[in-house]
Amino acid sequence: RPPTPPPPGAPTARILFLTDLHWDRQYVAGSAAACPDPLCCRGAPREGPGVAGFWGSYSKCDLPLHTIDALLAQLPNATGRTSNATGNSTGSFAAAYWTGDIPAHDVWQQSRGDQLRALRTVTALLRARLGGLRVFPAVGNHEATPVNAFPPPYVRGNQSAAWLYDAMAEAWQDWLPPAALHTLRAGGFYTAQVWPGLRLVSLNMNFCSQANFWLLINATDPAGQLQWLMGVLADAERDGEKVHIIGHIPPAHCLRSWSWNYYRIVNRFEGTIAAQFFGHTHLDEFELFYDEETLSRPVSIAFIAPSVTTYINLNPGAPQTPACVPPNQPSPPPALTVPPAAGYRVYEVAGSYPGSSHAVLDHETFILNLTEANAAPPGTRPPWQRLYSARKAYGLPTAFPSDWDRLVRRMQDDEQLFQLFWFHLHKGHPPHEPCGSPCKAALLCALRSGRAADPALCRPLRPTLPFPRIQELWHRQRLC
Ligand SMILES: [Zn+2]
Ligand SMILES: [Zn+2]
Repeated sequence: RPPTPPPPGAPTARILFLTDLHWDRQYVAGSAAACPDPLCCRGAPREGPGVAGFWGSYSKCDLPLHTIDALLAQLPNATGRTSNATGNSTGSFAAAYWTGDIPAHDVWQQSRGDQLRALRTVTALLRARLGGLRVFPAVGNHEATPVNAFPPPYVRGNQSAAWLYDAMAEAWQDWLPPAALHTLRAGGFYTAQVWPGLRLVSLNMNFCSQANFWLLINATDPAGQLQWLMGVLADAERDGEKVHIIGHIPPAHCLRSWSWNYYRIVNRFEGTIAAQFFGHTHLDEFELFYDEETLSRPVSIAFIAPSVTTYINLNPGAPQTPACVPPNQPSPPPALTVPPAAGYRVYEVAGSYPGSSHAVLDHETFILNLTEANAAPPGTRPPWQRLYSARKAYGLPTAFPSDWDRLVRRMQDDEQLFQLFWFHLHKGHPPHEPCGSPCKAALLCALRSGRAADPALCRPLRPTLPFPRIQELWHRQRLC
């Protein structure tokens, strides 16, 4: 049964969603914003144009800690909230979901010590700024070193991931119950109650990742995570709980077998999984799930929120969004002129009351315009602003899966609506190159694709491109 809108006056709750912070400890304001390395805005300050701004840069750069701190400091005071755990008072948050990628993109020089310092520093900052607000983290692909290297639990000793998961369990122990810390230490995933009637599952999506070379040895349900997930969902179904799933890498970016099994699980438990939340692509998009029998009835949606960092995505496991340029043309240099602004997301969900769907009712996206912030006099608080709210911007009656399915169809015919989505996809800073018809076909196809490499999901859109061309365009995104 699809979710129904909450009755008038029913409580709602706001959930703060942070993803892909990518703190660069070596960020230097005034350093070169363009450089041959994969990460810039570091090193000696210099004179002239093209230098790193104080709050961040529209370039191949991550963020200084004071920008992350400024983001957290301007949020509605989480410590001031009432004892009402569902946070009904306007503005304040009932919980925070934080889906990973804490360290910067200087992946070629990171040590385990660097990664642990990033984990502890940013965790401490969240605890200090968010006070008693409970934060539910998920493990990103950048937490480890080498990047993407997450050995499954059968690997023991110094090669294992214990150095990372043990540190996470220690850093996050005030936010998570003992049972969650136990599975976190074992495999980097856990479940915990958010409030009565709502359970959270935090998945370690590195066990689905094409870039995790440990899975070349054995990719069969690494760490038994999907088996475990089915157990958690079956218990929740029995107990009448709803479940929010969070994770870093979105499901359609996963290895094909993992992704198709996950799709099947979402189908089986469509009545229990109230929402799914991911990050990693640094872009503002989503992946729809349909019933497996007909692939026509939308049963779930994985929201993909834009990154806090400005970093333009160059890492493997790239976003499934289209290329900046049509294939057969020479690849452009990595876009340095108009990467995204810094940003974060707030989800409004049905609150805690008997019979609540705990479904997403709307979401809002906030950004920091770095041109304005960097031009302001020193000491000025940076002006975070609301970029848009989903229902209003797209004219959605509700924000259930069927509304997003209709939005994709509407975008096919309504070019103005599609351009608005394209603008939001890039946090208000779209690339110079417009999204032509192959690009548009590939993007709309990606939005319908909750599982990897399935041409059938795009067929109702009657794309003008053959599916292999669409996949090619998805891969080309890595270049921009
Ligand atoms: Zn990231
Ligand atoms: Zn990532």
